[in-house]
Amino acid sequence: MKSMTCQQLGGACDHIFKAETFEEMAEQSKQHGMEMYKIKDEAHMEAMAKMQDLMKSPELMQKWFSDKKAEFDSLPTV
Ligand SMILES: [Zn+2]
Repeated sequence: MKSMTCQQLGGACDHIFKAETFEEMAEQSKQHGMEMYKIKDEAHMEAMAKMQDLMKSPELMQKWFSDKKAEFDSLPTV
């Protein structure tokens, strides 16, 4: 099990996600982001707007994803 914070995953808070795989981690982060979006949390709305900008470019998005995956892979398993 590895853990990453919301902030590390392009979010806006210290919420910790724990997962076995990066895909699982990304999914949890997405769910959390949607919940924050629902309650209109300003910091997260801003972070999501930045991510959406990034998503306009498939290359940048791919790079972001593989960078984060590398970060995940380098984390110690707890
Ligand atoms: Zn968050």
